[in-house]
Parts: sequence; structure tokens; C-alpha cells
Amino acid sequence: MFLAYCDECEDRFLLPASHVVGVHNLASGVIAVELTCYEGHHLLVLSGNDIDIPGPATV
Ligand SMILES: [Zn+2]
Repeated sequence: MFLAYCDECEDRFLLPASHVVGVHNLASGVIAVELTCYEGHHLLVLSGNDIDIPGPATV
């Protein structure tokens, strides 16, 4: 499950792995997970060893 904030919905969702549309390695230990919210908007969430602040991300 991924906690993601959607700017367009102005709401925070807990999204299952089935909403993942892509995973991008940005740097060593940093991963950007591309998701869609329940309305179909695209979101980007950073995760990885070096990220300790969960929440929305802008890349
Ligand atoms: Zn949305």
C-alpha cells in the first residue's frame, strides 16, 4: 500500500499496488513510484532508504 496525496482531488489516499503504473530509480536508494488515484489522476511518490518524509513529491 502507498500513501499518496492527489493535488487534483485535494485528498490523501492509501493506494494498493494495483494502482502503481510505474517505478523509476532516480538515484541510489531513491525510487519514484508513479500511481493513479481512484479518480485516475497521476501521482508521484518518493520512497527509498534516503527518504524519511512520506507524502507528495514533485520531480
Ligand atoms: Zn485524484
